[in-house]
This record gives sequence, C-alpha cells and structure tokens, in this order.
Amino acid sequence: MSERIDGVEVLECTRCPALCDSRSQIVNGVGTTTPPILFVGEAPGATEDRKGEPFVGRSGEVLNDALRDRGLARRDVRITNCVRCRPPDNRDPHTDELANCRSHLTREIDGVDPEVIVTLGRVPSEHLLERDVTVTTEAGDVLERRIGGKSRRIVICVHPAATLYDRSQEETFTSAIDTAVSLVGGDVGGQARLGDF
Ligand code: URA
Repeated sequence: MSERIDGVEVLECTRCPALCDSRSQIVNGVGTTTPPILFVGEAPGATEDRKGEPFVGRSGEVLNDALRDRGLARRDVRITNCVRCRPPDNRDPHTDELANCRSHLTREIDGVDPEVIVTLGRVPSEHLLERDVTVTTEAGDVLERRIGGKSRRIVICVHPAATLYDRSQEETFTSAIDTAVSLVGGDVGGQARLGDF
C-alpha cells in the first residue's frame, strides 16, 4: 500500500482497490483552511473526478448559489467529501470504503477546525453521526458529536442534488444552510467580492 499525505491533502492512497480503478485522481477538500463552516458530501462524481475538486458539477452549482445568496464564496468556507475517489458508476461508497477514507476526513476536520460541519445528504450524515438518518425530516437539526480531538456541531442537510429532482427540497436545503450560517454568527469572513460573481 502506498500513501502520501501533505497536511490535510491526500496525495497518494491505495486503500480501496475498486476506487483506485474508477478514479482518475484523488479529490481533496477545497476552500479556506480556517473555515467557519465545513461542508461534507458523499464522494466525487464524474465532473469532480475530472476537475479534481469537490462539488463542481450540477450539485456544486446549487451549493454555490446558496453560498452566493448569503454573500459567500467557496473560498470563505471549506468543502470536502467522505470519500475522496469517485466510485464506479456513481454508486454509493461501500462501508469499507467509507471506513478506509475516514482517517483522511478526520485529519482534515482536526486540521481545519471548523466551527460547524454541514453534512450534505444521507451518506455523510450517517457516516458522521454513526446512526441512521432520515435527512428530509432531520435537515436543519443541530447535533454534537466527538470527531477526532474535539466535539463538533453538525447541521444535517439534504444533498444539493435533491433540490434538482424535487423542488420541495429547496426550502429544506436553504433553511439548513441558514441554520449553519446563523450558528457561526452570520459572519463567515468574506463578504461578496465583486470578482467572484
Ligand atoms: N456529490 C457529492 O456528494 N460530492 C461531490 O463532490 C459532488 C457531488
């Protein structure tokens, strides 16, 4: 097994044979390393795998819009995934793959020390809360869990993609984001910079 880590970045990892075959690159988290809010998704999709950045496809547009509507740019927050390599055919990551990638996620959470974590969808919510989660009914709930070296505030949120196939999820999605923003005092560092939009 070969592995190279640089701070919160995974440069090389071969823990998951199936994902090593399906990925074209490892997709690390992006954004500030001192984030008020850390968004955690499931795993990279095809666009993320091609571009090497989380949430840059259609789901990413939904997330970007929600951030922009609150005067935020991607660089004001941090965005990462439970699993850093694209699963074949966009399937959910398997339990062993989530477990294999867990120390990478915990290292990132410890390293960037977010004030609040927002879990985007069922997979990251269940992964970090270690229980079954019904995201549609629990979205917006704020829970505390010990992760790595510290107790963390977690806001459950529906996946941005849910708003694309079910318009009724838009309000659920945005109000969970509002909850996270209000938990960090509504001050997430960067006000909208003209160049971002
Ligand atoms: N969905 C995710 O969960 N993560 C991404 O990076 C993109 C889509």
